[in-house]
Amino acid sequence: MAPSLPAELEIDLAAIVANWRLLRDRAAPAACGAVVKADAYGLGARAVAPALWRAGCRDFFVVWPDEGLVLRELLPEARILLLAGAPPGTEAECCARGLGPVLNSLEDIARWAPVARMAAPAAPAAWIHVDSGMSRLGLPPDEVTRLAGAPDMLAGVPLAGVMSHLACADEPDHPCNDRQLARFEVARAALAPLGPLPASLANSSGLFLGPAFRFDLARPGAGLYGLRPQAGLADALTPVVRLTSAILQIRTVARNDSVGYGATFVAETPRRLATVPIGYADGYLRSLSNRGRVYLDGRPAPVVGRVSMDLITVDVTDHPEARPGRAVEIIGPHQPVDALADQAGTIGYEILTALGGRYHRRYIGQPSR
Ligand SMILES: *Cc1c(COP(=O)(O)O)cnc(C)c1O
Repeated sequence: MAPSLPAELEIDLAAIVANWRLLRDRAAPAACGAVVKADAYGLGARAVAPALWRAGCRDFFVVWPDEGLVLRELLPEARILLLAGAPPGTEAECCARGLGPVLNSLEDIARWAPVARMAAPAAPAAWIHVDSGMSRLGLPPDEVTRLAGAPDMLAGVPLAGVMSHLACADEPDHPCNDRQLARFEVARAALAPLGPLPASLANSSGLFLGPAFRFDLARPGAGLYGLRPQAGLADALTPVVRLTSAILQIRTVARNDSVGYGATFVAETPRRLATVPIGYADGYLRSLSNRGRVYLDGRPAPVVGRVSMDLITVDVTDHPEARPGRAVEIIGPHQPVDALADQAGTIGYEILTALGGRYHRRYIGQPSR
């Protein structure tokens, strides 16, 4: 069938692999995994994960068992980890399918340990997550103390290591970073009764905080998909996504004509407008109303009026070449994902994961088999 939108989402798998290699080299001598939760941040885990496996990645992080099962079919030998653990009642199936949980509480440990102990040594190894300051998931300090005092809770349970997650790694000078590092070290020392265990702390941004944050395994997500790890590092990684659409209609509006729902834009002089078929249902966020930009032939054109569900209107008065069918860059060399996110008042993560299902998706840079 013909693409339902003239919009095309191009995803460069070679760029994702290049980004993984760069992050892996930054992480070394620590190993480098890949976070492919939320369908690889909206870009398609079925395409992304096998490309990373072929590049040498062995540890894949998702959130839910269903996401893990998709990977398991494609990657029979990968280590697949569930960041939110095995939900109650799924422990036996997760164990049987080799989906290793991140154990986020003593209760998680109590549910997982008997299942894993019975299946050991074939059970997938679990990570123990300690909360070092994110206050979201992971054993809080009192639970770390209780576990340290009763290491038998995990006797016979295959363990991959101890991990934690950084709250402010995208701000290198934020005091949170060193505080979390210190708390992580305290928790690791407390858990010494469990025996020597590998450690994991850094997400993508964490890899840019310095060697102290590397430990034994890095868990980058955003960086793989080309997002900037910190404000000053916009060019650190290779762009992965290109999103283009094409002009549907051109019209001229007179002085005092209004544009779009709510008539939030009123022309002060006659304007030439292009209607472009992309809207908030496609992840072109409504907050880009009267704020976003698209690019025609490398030059910007402002979004005027509100973003509708399926359409935007763009002022092309200064683009005499604009006519129906002409390509419009929404994400690409002139406007990286992070720049679009800045316009929308959000982060690149939200732009990527909000990309809708209506684009014609094209994968380029497919690794040869
Ligand atoms: C999402 C996530 C990551 C990846 O973070 P990025 O900022 O995308 O690199 C790593 N660890 C945990 C626990 C996560 O939830």
